[in-house]
Amino acid sequence: MSNRTLSLDDRTHEYLLSVSVAESELLRELREETAAENQFAVMQISPEQGQFMNLLLKLIGAKRALEIGTFTGYSSICIANALPDDGELICCDNSGDWTLMARKYWQKAGLQDKIKLYLQDASITLQLLLDGAFAGSFDFIFIDADKQNYPLYYEQSLKLLRKGGLLAIDNTLWSGSVADPENMEPGTRAIRRFNEMVKNDNRVIKSLVPIGDGLTLIVKDFE
Ligand code: CA
Repeated sequence: MSNRTLSLDDRTHEYLLSVSVAESELLRELREETAAENQFAVMQISPEQGQFMNLLLKLIGAKRALEIGTFTGYSSICIANALPDDGELICCDNSGDWTLMARKYWQKAGLQDKIKLYLQDASITLQLLLDGAFAGSFDFIFIDADKQNYPLYYEQSLKLLRKGGLLAIDNTLWSGSVADPENMEPGTRAIRRFNEMVKNDNRVIKSLVPIGDGLTLIVKDFE
């Protein structure tokens, strides 16, 4: 028994997957194709995180969702699968290459009508949405893109979320390097700065969940 979060060894991790994760055939195929064809496959979220996010969306009855950083599409499918038939997911990415695989799997999953992809810098798309009167209209937003721009995406996302909406931000433990004072790499420093910013933000309810590479959950507690 332990009253602090376990660090999972391989055996415990395998066990967790075996008793709690039911990855669909399609998602497994996408994960394997990404691993085979993309040198950045480590950027893909884990199956247990995908299933957890799907559960969160169901829990809040999310209908409109936004994803910042789509890569080859794994998380977008976990999100879109949780939305009702008339739900909508807006995806932001600036790589036509990486999202080609995402598009292929959206088709295979029959999700192509639910998902709209914007291929440009996410901050531009988010500003367009804000200008287009979509402020306060999203139930769920997932940030998983360039770490330097996390503070910008965070502020734009908080404007786009409805009160009580959920914001999930990926990689906030950054392989643990955020806790290593010797590590001064730009990505590490960016995540550290971001975590401090969230810590000091009293407008929101927050929890850093040690799933995957660290997933910060934020509930917007203001209009
Ligand atoms: Ca990530």
